[in-house]
Amino acid sequence: MTHPALPPLAGAATWQAVMQTAGHRCQCTGTCGDPHPRGGGRCDRVHGGHTHRHGGGTVRLLAAPADPARLTLPLHRATALPVGDLAAWCPPCHDAARRTAAARTAEAAPPGADALF
Ligand SMILES: [Zn+2]
Ligand SMILES: [Zn+2]
Repeated sequence: MTHPALPPLAGAATWQAVMQTAGHRCQCTGTCGDPHPRGGGRCDRVHGGHTHRHGGGTVRLLAAPADPARLTLPLHRATALPVGDLAAWCPPCHDAARRTAAARTAEAAPPGADALF
């Protein structure tokens, strides 16, 4: 599976600020479901580093909500968050954390709760 070109989720200035705070390293500490023992409890993927998969190319970190519950926000609302509410995510952690958050949201809502009738 190939990702289409991944634009930074946030604007360039916001992205820079988030990456500076993160040290250009993924800030996931297990939210994706992987406790990241190799990185000492934090994902060791850095922006511009190589993915572990052969032919995976270079890692492009995303600026996305730090709170996993907000990872399911629509793009236009996520990008409106202040820099302090954003974190650096590598694509695999971001995808997995968002899936986990979406599943949890679906679990919390009683069946049919989002139906109008
Ligand atoms: Zn990561
Ligand atoms: Zn992770």
